[in-house]
Amino acid sequence: MVLSMTSDDGNHRTAIIGAGPAGLTAALELGKLGHDGVVFEAGDVVGGISRSVEFQGCRLDIGGHRFFTKVPEVEALWHEILGDDLLTRQRLSRIYYRDRFFDYPLKPFNALSGLGLIEAARVMTSFVRSQFFPIANETTFDAWVSNRFGRRLFEIFFRTYTEKVWGMPCSEISAAWAAQRIKNLNLLTAVKNAFVRNGTRDGDVVTSLIESFYYPRLGPGMMWDRCREIAASHGIETHMQSRVVRVHRDGVRVRAIDVQGADGSKRTEPCDSLISSMPIGTLVKVMDPPAPEAVQIAADSLRFRDFLIVGLIVEREHLFPDNWIYVHSPEVRVGRVQSFKNWSPEMVDDHEISFIGLEYFVNEDDDLWSMPDDELVALGASEAQIIGLFEPGEVRAGVVVRQPKAYPVYDDEYERHLEVLRDWLDGIDNLYTVGRNGQHRYNNQDHSMLAGLFAARNVAGAELDLWSINEEESFHEEVREDEAREYDVRDRKVPSRVEGSIEELLQSAFARYDEVALGGAVGITASLGLAVATAAVLLGSDSSFLPMLSLLGNYLFGFQVSWPGLAVGVFEAGLLGFAVGWATAKLINVIIRGFERDLERRLAALTTLEALDGGTVERR
Ligand SMILES: Cc1cc2nc3c(=O)[nH]c(=O)nc-3n(C[C@H](O)[C@H](O)[C@H](O)COP(=O)(O)OP(=O)(O)OC[C@H]3O[C@@H](n4cnc5c(N)ncnc54)[C@H](O)[C@@H]3O)c2cc1C
Repeated sequence: MVLSMTSDDGNHRTAIIGAGPAGLTAALELGKLGHDGVVFEAGDVVGGISRSVEFQGCRLDIGGHRFFTKVPEVEALWHEILGDDLLTRQRLSRIYYRDRFFDYPLKPFNALSGLGLIEAARVMTSFVRSQFFPIANETTFDAWVSNRFGRRLFEIFFRTYTEKVWGMPCSEISAAWAAQRIKNLNLLTAVKNAFVRNGTRDGDVVTSLIESFYYPRLGPGMMWDRCREIAASHGIETHMQSRVVRVHRDGVRVRAIDVQGADGSKRTEPCDSLISSMPIGTLVKVMDPPAPEAVQIAADSLRFRDFLIVGLIVEREHLFPDNWIYVHSPEVRVGRVQSFKNWSPEMVDDHEISFIGLEYFVNEDDDLWSMPDDELVALGASEAQIIGLFEPGEVRAGVVVRQPKAYPVYDDEYERHLEVLRDWLDGIDNLYTVGRNGQHRYNNQDHSMLAGLFAARNVAGAELDLWSINEEESFHEEVREDEAREYDVRDRKVPSRVEGSIEELLQSAFARYDEVALGGAVGITASLGLAVATAAVLLGSDSSFLPMLSLLGNYLFGFQVSWPGLAVGVFEAGLLGFAVGWATAKLINVIIRGFERDLERRLAALTTLEALDGGTVERR
């Protein structure tokens, strides 16, 4: 294939790597702005992680993509692209544990009644015990949650799922994960929020964030198929099975890219600008001439968590009413189960069947990742049977979709590595990195789209900061809007290994007053003030203090405006000053502790939401 990608005619042409939400949004915007461009996509369908996979008349969504955004421009674009094909859906998702379903978010009465009398009694006993005898060292996630909910409830509703998702024991996860939101908090904000509550606190915002979202009639891929068509109508074509394997640069500019087709053949495509949504580390590794060694080491150091989903066509019209179910039962490895026709009835052609997706959170070196597809389908069917969804005999067919690099991991080191990559890539004038893996950002679609929009506008001459996206706001967060502002939800981190305790975190946010120091300071100031004033009167240099000092004589026992009286007064004023300073510091500390307790309480409430969706559901 010969592509007319050259600057010879004087046109500025942009190559876009990746036909996911970021790349296709950039293509659409570039086309609307009247610029030339072309998209190269390694895969054979568009949409990236947000694609729909077709299988025997059914459509599978990698994970279940809720379309929710707080960016009006992105929302308008969704409507523009899909019109009436963008449905509004209500959310229903529950927790499955030991043959029972529990409401999500957790509701105390529902949880206790669902557990049965004996288990509920054990939960209550364990809760009471945790209140009287909390675990002293609260540095781990399990200790922190157990201290707030009781060990038993932690085991049931937190432990298994968290461990399935993150692949590490809760005893090794830092408690700070639960409290990451308080990191950038300051006392002033807390005081303001304590007194100035906005009306949405318990109302509409929560409901809308949790309970309703948009969804394309034929799954998320429909959005990206349509976006590709519209971009093409503006002259920006997308070439499938075209993997970018080399980026040629000439000093501070990209000059061309090498594209490899499905048959392994390579061609070189010149370009005037490059927008890349491929993983940022991989981009650095395909640079020619190569990036400096330190940059390549940083590129190799970014980590990901991977994901696979087993789709099963089941010969039963109704399985369950939920969009998805969280599977907490420890006896199975599946983490969530989706029913795609509950997202949109048209995800399944034949209304007499169901199409479900069993989600497994994995790493590429796990046994599940390399397990043959037929064995994974059999595993999915048997686990569905174990949790009582259907019998393996009802499965008509199955498919496995593996999604490498599904989650950019925010480990302790990632920011440092990312900075090295950014610094170096910033030196290349006509290169724009966008998207989830393109920026190693925990993006939902809306953020990736915004990055694509910004990049296209920068090609057209704007100077928008691509790295400011997803910095300040909370997206798809199932938290209240004011909480989202109050807490630092900029980077929702993956759990990190145990380091500090929540107490330490809180204490770093709220400095305590040293009672003795404040007492001492006030005491010394009072003594000195009294001594100077009394001496001034006695030495005849300033008699204006006399009325005030005489008045003080009523309060300071034995104090008179005389040299012996001064000694008594200095002692008593020091003592009194110390008492006032000490009491003030004490009072302030009590108030601060009150704020901390309030925060801890609200963090505990958030944790019930976070522990499940924190990291996997992309609300995420
Ligand atoms: C389980 C799960 C659930 C999610 N749920 C939601 C949700 O509910 N709502 C939501 O909004 N978001 C959700 N997301 C996030 C959403 O999928 C991503 O934010 C979005 O797809 C990112 O778009 P992108 O264009 O940045 O990257 P990607 O989707 O990763 O697209 C990048 C594209 O680049 C291509 N590519 C890579 N390398 C090359 C190369 N060398 N040459 C050519 N092409 C290349 C890839 O094949 C891919 O098509 C979820 C993600 C996961 C994993």
